[in-house]
Amino acid sequence: MQFNAQYTQLASKLYHHQKPHPLLNPQAGHFNHALADELKFNGDWVALCSGQQTFDEFEPLAMVYAGHQFGQWAGQLGDGRGLLIAQVLNTHGKTIDLHLKGAGKTPYSRMGDGRAVLRSVIREYLAGHALNSLGVASSNALGFTSSRQGVQREKLEPGAMMLRTSDCHIRLGHFEWINQYAPELLADFTQKCIEWHYPHLLDSASPTIDFARGVIERTAQMVANWQLVGFAHGVMNTDNLNITGSTLDFGPFGFMERFRPDWQNNHSDHSKRYTYQKQPSIAKWNLWVWVNNLRPLVDDEQTLLATIEHFEPTFLKYYQNGLAQKMGLPSFHKDSFDCGLEFLQLLQKEQLDYTQSFWRLQQQEYTAIQHDCIDQTSFEKFITRYHAIREHQDVSALQANMKNPRYILRNHMAQKAIEHAECEDFSEVDRLFKLLANPFTVQPELEQPSDLLTNEPALAISCSS
Ligand code: AMP
Ligand code: MG
Repeated sequence: MQFNAQYTQLASKLYHHQKPHPLLNPQAGHFNHALADELKFNGDWVALCSGQQTFDEFEPLAMVYAGHQFGQWAGQLGDGRGLLIAQVLNTHGKTIDLHLKGAGKTPYSRMGDGRAVLRSVIREYLAGHALNSLGVASSNALGFTSSRQGVQREKLEPGAMMLRTSDCHIRLGHFEWINQYAPELLADFTQKCIEWHYPHLLDSASPTIDFARGVIERTAQMVANWQLVGFAHGVMNTDNLNITGSTLDFGPFGFMERFRPDWQNNHSDHSKRYTYQKQPSIAKWNLWVWVNNLRPLVDDEQTLLATIEHFEPTFLKYYQNGLAQKMGLPSFHKDSFDCGLEFLQLLQKEQLDYTQSFWRLQQQEYTAIQHDCIDQTSFEKFITRYHAIREHQDVSALQANMKNPRYILRNHMAQKAIEHAECEDFSEVDRLFKLLANPFTVQPELEQPSDLLTNEPALAISCSS
């Protein structure tokens, strides 16, 4: 592996060096070979993913940050159970963070035990992999291990450790911590963020303002992609969003099954702050909090704060184009977006499965959709309009451009893999890993009928992890 230790160039106030507390008698869970190749890793992955081995080239560290949680200022947070254990260059020359989750207590653990449970590790492991395969910017993971050593949550659960990879672990909340506790570090920290993650802006006339715009645009694109694949993050606190717009810190996330805009997967979110339909506005709220942290760096505050106005048009551009592509409609046609929304209204009214319905549309199985509709008039109205838009278009080109997954990580699929893994059988994790590696392709040899089934009743997923 080729190391590129960047984070330790920052002021030492921003992190705390510390070693992982290894898992007792770790057991191999799952390993991502393709990712290992990309990172040029060929060592003992079980030792690495259980905290038994670290690298001589990088001294592990916990980052400090702060954040707004559920809309409230939460003060100092930080890596309470994770450690940055390396930064390496991948085969594309990109710097990737290796972050060990569940690595034990740190000075930022507050009341927590520093551990992660097998249940949440498997969910994050498979979800990161699923999003990457769906083309949504996200963290991923090299592998995970488990242990019989119990971790107490609502009940005693098997502990686990996961080696997460991400292009960036700098959160919006890093800026909040600096402004609150060490404002003298803001200029240098921002400069480093630009250098590492937005290097094309280094020569800009107003790098801070362009950096703000860049973070806003990438976050808007990420959230548009979440909406398009039906992903709900579940805990969009400012400490769980990074500055490169790649999905981070999966908690009670979910992939939507029946199309319900007000669907929430996080049952601990009593105020319904993080429902599927609120994700764009919450992202904008978080970015507004964040952008205000850059004020000390600019003379022209008005222009800085106006960057937030880029959020909506950027989100809409990606969402509208993406929806047209999912529908197999031309993005330039004036009726395409409305027709896409009409389809969504139909799904909502009929409580149809989001992923299955788009898959059927792509397969031109229109009668299968119709068959599931009670309100035939609305279906007829939609399908007439749909065909009318496509009538004078190159339908085969539109069909070829459609990109709808057959497979998503449904809660019940993850749950089954977890239940097997808790009995030390990781074969279901492996099956899902392979299935979700190619979500757009029918895989008869791997697929089970339940992979396509809408889950009823829904599983209750909480914040506890
Ligand atoms: P989250 O919203 O799950 O990303 O976590 C919010 C904060 O709580 C972060 O600072 C985490 O590092 C910390 N945290 C979560 N779980 C634990 C735990 N079991 N032990 C220590 N800190 C934790
Ligand atoms: Mg977090």
